[in-house]
Amino acid sequence: MSGRAQLMWDEAVTGYDFGPEHPMDPVRLALTRSLVGALGLDREVDVVAARAAGESTLRLVHREDYIDAVKAASADPGAADVSYGLGTVDDPAFAGMHEVSSLIAGQSVGAAEAVWRGDALHAVNFAGGLHHAMPGAASGFCVYNDAALAIARLLELGAERVAYVDVDVHHGDGVQAAFWEDPRVLTVSLHEHPRTLFPQTGWPEETGADCAEGSAVNVALPAGTGDAGWVRAFHAVVPEVLADFRPQVLVTQHGADTHFEDPLAHLAVSLDAQRAVQVACHELAHEYAGGRWVALGGGGYAVVDVVPRSWAHLVGIAAGRPVAPETVIPEGWRQQVFARTRQLGPIRMTDGRWPVGWAPWDAGYDPADRLDQAVVAARRAVFPLRGLLA
Ligand SMILES: [Zn+2]
Repeated sequence: MSGRAQLMWDEAVTGYDFGPEHPMDPVRLALTRSLVGALGLDREVDVVAARAAGESTLRLVHREDYIDAVKAASADPGAADVSYGLGTVDDPAFAGMHEVSSLIAGQSVGAAEAVWRGDALHAVNFAGGLHHAMPGAASGFCVYNDAALAIARLLELGAERVAYVDVDVHHGDGVQAAFWEDPRVLTVSLHEHPRTLFPQTGWPEETGADCAEGSAVNVALPAGTGDAGWVRAFHAVVPEVLADFRPQVLVTQHGADTHFEDPLAHLAVSLDAQRAVQVACHELAHEYAGGRWVALGGGGYAVVDVVPRSWAHLVGIAAGRPVAPETVIPEGWRQQVFARTRQLGPIRMTDGRWPVGWAPWDAGYDPADRLDQAVVAARRAVFPLRGLLA
């Protein structure tokens, strides 16, 4: 019943392409898929292409007038309506935008359905995690919010408690907004501080509407945070709120833009710490959500060196066949990287920082340390609302 993990994949998701000047180059998806194959991971999962999300599904999160505006921009990119965030620098309109955005959303919705029905215990859609899309607007390279749609579909299927954990370097604002007033959904986002990064939200004081107080958790990390601080902050907040919330399903977003090579943000996290947090999410799904785990991609703009390795690790973990960090990447994949991008691909599945050392919160904290201050702020803002000791 809950046998192999599912990898959601339809080659057509690589059509999510804002053009040659845009940082979200879909080659990152193609290279991730081919690295998954080169490492033999696709033999360890069921590769499934779900249908595109239909109109009734999109409406679980998005406003009808916005969907109509996306369709219009998709049919005629020159007529995109910027009042919906379409045709902007971040979200240029392109032909077929509605169709491919719906297809990506459909993979996340399909992943959620598979996990809820028990067809698979874990499902991965690394093309998803488009967490900035708002109910009525495109934002931050995101058109339809597949993460919010997957959660909304779980609620529609009868789920009463869904937890969402977002470790992208940017705040998971669209998902938080979609469930701001819904106590059935706990959203947790760890991100670079809004003072220094888009979308300038995700302050610890954002904790959910009155009727859902304490259902939004925000950990705003200082620019420059590295492996030890990032993993420490994750463990200082996430396990406790999940233990308290007891989700039936865990949905996680694994934007790879926390990496020190990422050109759009300012954290200093390595591939090895990203892998450590992926492993932790998998363990938390088993500990608190009966193993039901939907794992999504997200941001990540070091499209050759970082994104494919990070998400291949994610697939390996979900497949029950984690890739050892010291693994040498098959030469054939590196040749493909060069042929497609004229860049040299990475050689190993590590940045040489494994195992990641970090100090547990229980052992004490330093009130003068900026990372610890960020953790304290998050805990003090939300833990009392949940009846937890800050
Ligand atoms: Zn991001």
